[in-house]
Amino acid sequence: MAKKRPICLSCNSYCVSWGKTTSGKKRFRCPRCFQTRGYHITKSKTDFFALFRQYVFWGHTYEQVSDQSGYSIQYLSIQFHIFLKQLPPVLPIVPQVSAFLLVKYNIKMYIGIR
Ligand SMILES: [Zn+2]
Repeated sequence: MAKKRPICLSCNSYCVSWGKTTSGKKRFRCPRCFQTRGYHITKSKTDFFALFRQYVFWGHTYEQVSDQSGYSIQYLSIQFHIFLKQLPPVLPIVPQVSAFLLVKYNIKMYIGIR
């Protein structure tokens, strides 16, 4: 995969590497308008809840989730314990519906209506 180069904000041409800033970050320079700019790649946040779902619902082990995500087992267990400590969401209240209940007791059959 080719390295991504930043595009100049004023003329839309590709910038070239131009040393480092005083803080040590890479600096780029536009070959057309000679403006310099910094560039940083924003890392996408890992959705630990999706990994937690794999662990709980799909029965994946810590080793499988670790191999897939690249995080260590210890770090994943810390992240999963955050979800395990949370209270479950409140379930919606279902209006009571009359239901038939069949109860077999001492060979006799009772039909109860609630
Ligand atoms: Zn430019």
